[in-house]
Amino acid sequence: MSLEVTQANNSIELVTSRLQSFWKDLKKAIPEAELFETKRSNERQTYLYSLGRTRSGEIVTYATAGNSPHNHGLAFDIRNVNFTNREKDIRELLSKNSDIAWGMDFWRIDTKTKKKVKFPDSAHFQIKGWRRFVPGLNGKIIFPIVAVIGISIYSLRGKRK
Ligand SMILES: [Zn+2]
Repeated sequence: MSLEVTQANNSIELVTSRLQSFWKDLKKAIPEAELFETKRSNERQTYLYSLGRTRSGEIVTYATAGNSPHNHGLAFDIRNVNFTNREKDIRELLSKNSDIAWGMDFWRIDTKTKKKVKFPDSAHFQIKGWRRFVPGLNGKIIFPIVAVIGISIYSLRGKRK
């Protein structure tokens, strides 16, 4: 295993300009905040996914390579923040940045019970609906939309005749 996959890259230049400007605002509101990780390679995502599965450790992610916004520069993680003390300040900041999602509010579907369970990741911020900005992942959503529009136009034309 290369050393690289175990290490987080925290260069802000690796995320989208929208996240760079959000980071500036966050740093103004929470000066003690430091960047922990920005963009993440697919190789590192695979490594993190293996933790608690094929490697010892706690499960840290449910996203396989390519399925985390970190892989596309659409998320960052911070550190050195007491999230309990700072929750109010972060909520206030988010109220002015409605296109940003906070990991504190994350949940997932438990595979056994099929119920929503909290899976908070308070250090994590991402672009809401980030999949829209990733061409490969986007295609899966775009195709049905195009198909529905196509069928609608076809049936409308049929009615006019
Ligand atoms: Zn994260």
